[in-house]
Amino acid sequence: MKRILPVFVFSLLFFGAHADCDIAGIAPDAPKLCGVATQGGMLYGEAKGWEVYKADSVKNKEKISSGGVFVIGFGRDAPKTLKLMFCKEGGNGDCKTYAYNIRQREYQEQSVSVPDKFIKYSDDVQKRIDKENASIKSARGKSADDASLDFMNLNPPLDMANYEISGVFGSRRIFNGIPKSPHNGLDIAAPSGTPVRSVASGQVVVAADMYLTGKTVFVSHGHGITSAYFHLSQLDVRSGARVTPDTVIGRVGATGRASGPHLHLGLYWLQTAMDPALFIK
Ligand SMILES: [Zn+2]
Repeated sequence: MKRILPVFVFSLLFFGAHADCDIAGIAPDAPKLCGVATQGGMLYGEAKGWEVYKADSVKNKEKISSGGVFVIGFGRDAPKTLKLMFCKEGGNGDCKTYAYNIRQREYQEQSVSVPDKFIKYSDDVQKRIDKENASIKSARGKSADDASLDFMNLNPPLDMANYEISGVFGSRRIFNGIPKSPHNGLDIAAPSGTPVRSVASGQVVVAADMYLTGKTVFVSHGHGITSAYFHLSQLDVRSGARVTPDTVIGRVGATGRASGPHLHLGLYWLQTAMDPALFIK
């Protein structure tokens, strides 16, 4: 006998954040989601009474719901189909999988000139970079169970109208003629000393001087989301501090691997880099 799935009543809370809660799945009965369904974007929805998984298969699934909400981010190269599995909480394996289309993007190429010490590293510097990368990775893995979804509507970290975007998300990057990893954030050129504010409320999880990213701040916003601020000339917060979008976390600079004063703004879902430009108010 064919097993009958429970009726899927799936309403979405309106958080007053990204108002685009109209993202339909491929099947007509798929729950509608909120957010931006594109490479570099993220989606969210209510999950009260449900466990929600990112699911390539029954065996390969990753839980993405907590506290009655689920959030999922997409990297630069996210595949064009997202599969989500919804399982009734406390149910005996009653699950249903829905697919969603993720818009595919094209990326630019950008050449950057920096001092050679940021291209070829001594063993000591390589050790330092590895250690710093490990601490960044660990900071991005932490996730406070924050009820707020402020990060769906990022506050501009500085007055965007006055400054030029000098680097976009996803571009292939050539440093001194050598291809390096794609650009994983948004660069805003601004004079050294310009105050930089947190893009959403949260907790500082990194405030340190690093080799490649210079004076660096990471803020955790809950749900696996962190924002990152690189190349600062000054740090105005310490690790552990609570911040709001009004908090000045540092000042624009050119520390680390930077060709001039600018803010590199990053946005991550766990280890996946997303495009902050899609979420700035
Ligand atoms: Zn950058």
